[in-house]
Amino acid sequence: MSNATHSSTLAPWAEQDGQSRGRRYPEAPPQLRTEYQRDRDRIVHSNAFRRLVYKTQVFVNHEGDLYRTRLTHSMEVAQIARSIASVLRLNESLTEAICLAHDLGHTPFGHAGQDALNECMRPYGGFEHNLQSLRVVDELEERYAEFPGLNLSYECREGILKHCSATNARLLGDVGERFLQRRQPGLEAQLANLADEIAYNNHDVDDGLRSGLITVEQLRDVDLVREQLDYVQDRYPGLHHRRLVHETVRRMINRLVVDVVESTTARLAAVQPADSEAVRSHSEPLVAMSEPVFAQHLQLKAFLRDNLYKHYRVRRMTLKARGVVQALFNAFFNDTQLMPDEHRAAALTLEARSGPDGRARAVADYVAGMTDRYAILEHERMFIPGERS
Ligand code: MG
Repeated sequence: MSNATHSSTLAPWAEQDGQSRGRRYPEAPPQLRTEYQRDRDRIVHSNAFRRLVYKTQVFVNHEGDLYRTRLTHSMEVAQIARSIASVLRLNESLTEAICLAHDLGHTPFGHAGQDALNECMRPYGGFEHNLQSLRVVDELEERYAEFPGLNLSYECREGILKHCSATNARLLGDVGERFLQRRQPGLEAQLANLADEIAYNNHDVDDGLRSGLITVEQLRDVDLVREQLDYVQDRYPGLHHRRLVHETVRRMINRLVVDVVESTTARLAAVQPADSEAVRSHSEPLVAMSEPVFAQHLQLKAFLRDNLYKHYRVRRMTLKARGVVQALFNAFFNDTQLMPDEHRAAALTLEARSGPDGRARAVADYVAGMTDRYAILEHERMFIPGERS
């Protein structure tokens, strides 16, 4: 882990320790850590972070113990991003904090849950998981005496809010501005975003193969995979399947990481941003893959979409997940007294403030916060006669 003395070695375009735009509620600086280390530590200690262990990435949590969950996904994102941040002399603690927090707002059941909740929320302002991650760290965590949420630094909040509609951006103040002014976030946020894509593409290949839903032979159609697979098979003929897969995937990750470092170094050398503000006003992101490698990355992404995420067994899981989320949302929205006391109280407060939109938001907060297994249990308690309530 980086430490407070690391800042002397940061590149000029990195987010500098001690120069944060600050927190929503002013606080005394930490004694032994940088502001961004404090952000990271608050995230690790949050309730929402612990829940990630029981939330789906692609495979529903109970399908098998070896599949990625949101927690291990977030850790892999952080690991990849930290490696790159360290080489590029970016702020490693800030990068790590953004990565660990980026999926805190995810619903149970991965994208299926997210799509279902978004449909339910369409008449009431919609549901965006990036925005929900920000809502978790700004409002929903209840841990500190003097402020709601985790009161993270501006730079960390900026990184968590990867995408946002213009309508929501207008309501958000400082972190919403860049979506209206078409500005970039800092390099650490750009890096976290790209590391997320690298992590899930590669671990979904691994999980997809483990599940048997996709095969090594199918993956030969994907350039990024085939290049590494050929190399490993030539060099280690007869290698056991499990080792073959890992050797291939680790080389794919390395290929992408090296490319991001080289391509980003070249861009930074060409643009020479004076500081992180110059990064933000640049016309496009500076952390990026080279064009040919990015094309390969997109090819793999398309392969996974067509062959894994649309596989009939994943679609069946998706159907069940959708049913659970919709049923819970509708029941709670129609009768908030079915929710546990604290969530019913939140619904009353938000409804008094903004009518049905507010009530729906409180229900969405409750449902989005559920782990896969809690959602399944709540669904049983609500709808299966004879189950404990
Ligand atoms: Mg992610």
